[in-house]
Amino acid sequence: MRTTPARTRIGYPFLVTSPDPQRYHVLTFGCQMNAHDSERITGMLEGRGMVAAADADDADVLVFNTCTIREKPDQKLYDQLKHAKGSKRRRKGAQVIAVGGCLVEAQKDNLLREFPWVDVAFGPGRIHDLGNYLELAEGEGAGVGHVPGHGEGFYGIGDERSFAAELPTQRERPHQAWVQISMGCNMKCAYCIVPAVRGREQSRSFTDIVSEVERLAADGVREVSLLGQNVNSYGNELPRDGSPRTFAELLRAVDAVDGIDRIRYTSPHPAHMRDDVIAAMAECDAVMPQLHLPLQAGSSRVLKAMRRTYSRERFVALAEKIRAAIPDISLSTDIIVGFPGETEAEFLETVEVCREVEFDGAYTFIYSPRTGTEAAGLVDDFIPNEEQHRRLSHLIDVVRGIATERHQRFVGTVQPVLVEDRSDSTVRQRQRLHGRTPHNVKVNFEGDARAGEIVPVDIVHANSESMLGRQLVATDLRS
Ligand code: SF4
Repeated sequence: MRTTPARTRIGYPFLVTSPDPQRYHVLTFGCQMNAHDSERITGMLEGRGMVAAADADDADVLVFNTCTIREKPDQKLYDQLKHAKGSKRRRKGAQVIAVGGCLVEAQKDNLLREFPWVDVAFGPGRIHDLGNYLELAEGEGAGVGHVPGHGEGFYGIGDERSFAAELPTQRERPHQAWVQISMGCNMKCAYCIVPAVRGREQSRSFTDIVSEVERLAADGVREVSLLGQNVNSYGNELPRDGSPRTFAELLRAVDAVDGIDRIRYTSPHPAHMRDDVIAAMAECDAVMPQLHLPLQAGSSRVLKAMRRTYSRERFVALAEKIRAAIPDISLSTDIIVGFPGETEAEFLETVEVCREVEFDGAYTFIYSPRTGTEAAGLVDDFIPNEEQHRRLSHLIDVVRGIATERHQRFVGTVQPVLVEDRSDSTVRQRQRLHGRTPHNVKVNFEGDARAGEIVPVDIVHANSESMLGRQLVATDLRS
């Protein structure tokens, strides 16, 4: 047993010299999975007695949770990392700079070399290791092998991964929670970096998920969003031993949890949208009449090139089947414009499908090549940037027009709106609030409700993005 005083890593005196709580700041890039991972990182840091710093420059531990789906977030991150270098220098090195997430896994060979002021890098499956690293920084043996300017990396997309869901969490809103049900993805979409950076799909234990939802309900959560890269293929690799394991069974089990009023999930793959899932959606009261179903492209040839495993006809038929089972459902989607080789006629097929399916909303993106993906090699077929932008702006106009029309069906109706404002005022007064309907449309309204209440709102106006309304009575619909 060692008897020398606890050592700290050279350059991190803050960990032992300050009597005040250490401060952290987490900057999040990218998708909802990342947002949820950041809640776990925040929860873990708070569990260690740290408090939030309002500004990145004031943080003792500065965490960047990165994304590499598109080029823009990469560039934004690099700019912020350069800024962090200055802030660390001003603090005479007394700041741990940690970088986690998908970009870290994709750039594991270069990141610490290009940004030597980064202390610790961890892939999305290695969030626990940020905690381990900080433990080491505080405890005995902390300095072993560490030289300032040579950060440590924790990577891996295999068995070394673990669910961040096992860590404590710091939710953005007390009444809403993300629940991770799987990680990774077994599909091979030609444009997507996820399988390379998050690994093969692994489902979390059914009972662990339901127990987490029960704990959340007991803690006052009313809405849960089940999260996975390919959420509706949940359970495929779980043992077939007769116990519940499918996504449809999971929806039903979460629906049965007392106190959970609203269930959503993202992102499903159209190829895995089986009849039992549609039936569970139609039959479970708490599963909201809203589905984000990524189309990506409307041309069967482009879909094949993207390796999406469904055709235009199959997607449209699926949308019809879902609408037949849940007539008023809102369908939103993701669309990539200007995939390599996409012709004008093929792009117009995407526009046609949008009109045919009548999406309530769409996230539209310009194709951007990601190193390590199949499509990044199709350089000869890349669509000129100007052309991509022209197609995108045409598509946005079409999508907005359809969404505006779709939302008119709510005008003149009374919608139960889950209030999202963060105000914790105990004084009831009429004020401008916002919240979401069961169909996941944002409503700005005048009322006197508190965050987390579900109140009746008379919808008076709607556009493509949101609606306006007036709260009818100041009562939570459950009370
Ligand atoms: S299903 Fe989604 S996460 Fe998986 S490879 Fe395709 S786009 Fe990526």
